[in-house]
Amino acid sequence: MFELETLIRPNIRAMQPYSSARDEFQGEARVMLDANENSLGSAGPQQFNRYPDPHQRAVKAELAQLKGVEPAQIFLGNGSDEAIDLLVRLTCRPGQDHILILPPTYGMYEVAANLNDVRLERIPLTPDFQLAPEAVAHIVASDAKLVFLCSPNNPTGNLLHAEAVEQVLRGFRGLVVVDEAYADFAAAPSWTTRLAEFPNLVVLQTFSKAWGLAGLRLGMAFASPAIIGYLNKIKPPYNVSEATQQHTLAALADAPHFEQMRQELLAGRQWLQQQLSTVAIVEQLFPSDANFLLARFRPDATAVYEYLLGKGIVVRNRTTQPGCAGTLRLTVGTPAENEQLVAALRDYAA
Ligand SMILES: *Cc1c(COP(=O)(O)O)cnc(C)c1O
Repeated sequence: MFELETLIRPNIRAMQPYSSARDEFQGEARVMLDANENSLGSAGPQQFNRYPDPHQRAVKAELAQLKGVEPAQIFLGNGSDEAIDLLVRLTCRPGQDHILILPPTYGMYEVAANLNDVRLERIPLTPDFQLAPEAVAHIVASDAKLVFLCSPNNPTGNLLHAEAVEQVLRGFRGLVVVDEAYADFAAAPSWTTRLAEFPNLVVLQTFSKAWGLAGLRLGMAFASPAIIGYLNKIKPPYNVSEATQQHTLAALADAPHFEQMRQELLAGRQWLQQQLSTVAIVEQLFPSDANFLLARFRPDATAVYEYLLGKGIVVRNRTTQPGCAGTLRLTVGTPAENEQLVAALRDYAA
């Protein structure tokens, strides 16, 4: 049985959150002398002299519409990486509790666990990067505080089968964090559509990929209002800057541009898939629901990696990741970049 209160660290349940000036007074007053801001203005070209809304109400109102959720089901962080760290800290007592990950997967889960002195248990994915029935059974029987499921998975690119994810959601007593950083490129509905069914579900998304805003640092977590309430309780009060909030509102209003880029990247992925499948040194090309492709190279992926670097093309070498021997991860770029990549690979040792 899932019971949120028993998963939350006792010190966090008991603590009082920081009450900021912007919590205690909201709105516009004629004279704002409550937050030790600089009423004269800002150095630099733009005015950022006031603290931002700690609850990011304007951004959440727009996002709630876009995603079909309530504002109370949204947490915003300084990248999804902040949400990952806060989820570990919310549930795991340092030196005592543990979390589950399914390698090969995103590296930040392990970093967050190590940073917080939280033990990590690795349950490997199958050779085609899915959850084996034994893995599901192992998770369901575990007393770990949370499990990270990355779908579409980084660095492999595939969606996890929905039935297996659902079995975990039904059986596991901890939080099930489904990291959907690449959801915009996937041909499957987001797990945000299932939030009402699963009180233990947390879905992570980000503005860093399809929205093209990696430099802005804005990540989203979607979950029950109870879970979101706890994340808000422990976040740094002003974790999303005014510049980020303003820029995100402008980006959300520019949704047609987002959609046009998304379609172009999907077309680029398809083109790369076709081309790479006819390149001699590509031994295996994995299916992708993301904006990158994982490919296995023969005879020596690291030599190919170095060769590409020599041509000014940098890709991600994943050869040392579990189950990924001989692989490179190739991000879909502009059409011209994709062509350069394919041409270089065709020329390799030719
Ligand atoms: C890129 C990526 C993120 C995004 O992190 P941000 O901090 O939002 O930039 C999260 N999870 C996975 C699996 C990723 O690949």
